[in-house]
Amino acid sequence: MTFKSKLPTVGTTIFSQMSQLAAQHQAINLSQGFPDFAPDSLLLQYLSDYSQQGLNQYAPMPGIAPLREQIAALVQRCYGRAVCAEQQVTVTSGATEALFVAISAVVAPGDEVIVFDPAYDSYAPAIQLNGGTAVHIALNAPDYRINWQQVADAITARTKLIVVNSPHNPTGMVFNLNDWQQLQQLVLQHNLYCISDEVYEHMVFDAALQLSANNFAELAQRSFIMSSFGKTFHVTGWKLGYCVAPGALTAEFRKIHQYVTFSSFTPAQYAIAGMLQHQSQQVSGLAAFYQYKRDQFASLLQGSRLQLLPCQGTYFQLADYSAISELDDVAFCRWLTTEHKVAAIPLSVFYNQPPQRRIIRFCFAKQSDTLKAAAEVLCQI
Ligand code: GLN
Repeated sequence: MTFKSKLPTVGTTIFSQMSQLAAQHQAINLSQGFPDFAPDSLLLQYLSDYSQQGLNQYAPMPGIAPLREQIAALVQRCYGRAVCAEQQVTVTSGATEALFVAISAVVAPGDEVIVFDPAYDSYAPAIQLNGGTAVHIALNAPDYRINWQQVADAITARTKLIVVNSPHNPTGMVFNLNDWQQLQQLVLQHNLYCISDEVYEHMVFDAALQLSANNFAELAQRSFIMSSFGKTFHVTGWKLGYCVAPGALTAEFRKIHQYVTFSSFTPAQYAIAGMLQHQSQQVSGLAAFYQYKRDQFASLLQGSRLQLLPCQGTYFQLADYSAISELDDVAFCRWLTTEHKVAAIPLSVFYNQPPQRRIIRFCFAKQSDTLKAAAEVLCQI
């Protein structure tokens, strides 16, 4: 059968490929981003309790009220912004669903969408499926900062949306005040919409300010701001996230969300609402928790020939391996996994036009023993 694909150039995501290769070769998996330690036992207890209590049927389409109220309270605590739980907060099946729904709500055939490479790999296919064109702006090592003049120059009459991601996967770059101000100015000046992918919002290191599109009132008026409880509570497999957007944008968002999933896993919504209400220190302590892991991993790798790049946030560490090998990054990651039993992610796959650099990404959301075992191998290469 011949089938005309709507995504002819898309293959299986690098995350599935590398995790599968790691499993096949019993490699230490520092590729796909997920913790290898257990979430808080209270969270698991809540999940079990709510399920036992019979909360196993469809949740309301926008999410259960207690969770939406806790999300509104979290936004208020972290960014001082009052959002309406009823009209501006929607619970989604992970940030992935929120991204897809928001892109589908905004992008029509012929629209251009600005994305920054290396870009999280779900953005471009969602844009393409909606008939839009992704306009890629490349960010470069070592600090991957955005040149806002370059962004202004890339805006055309067709530009509808700009997708930003801070703290940034895969580079660990974090927007500063100037970045947010420049973004806000361009969005307002050109009547754009913004998707602010903030799934690593609570992982900002070195006492830097944790800023969000929520901090910038006029930007927030034109933004879909999304986050992921998978990251915040170490439960990536629960696929629970949310989108905060003004009422009019939320109404459009829900028109699509209701037919993509209708609603998300009910007991998990109650369990996360319980954590946000009673264990909010877990959220405020996340930056210190992961900063410790970043520093531990860096110090363990001191004896290696990898050169680490700056990491201001997220749970990812980039490393330049050019002192070790001349292989391209995809081949190097395969070699590292099959020959040395440590899996990482090549950076080039996140670019439309990859620069000629030898850089890979490690996930350090791992137990100390995992990081030690991986570093021991890496130091011998
Ligand atoms: N966000 C995770 C990462 O960057 C993986 C998500 C996924 O596997 N789809 O590694």
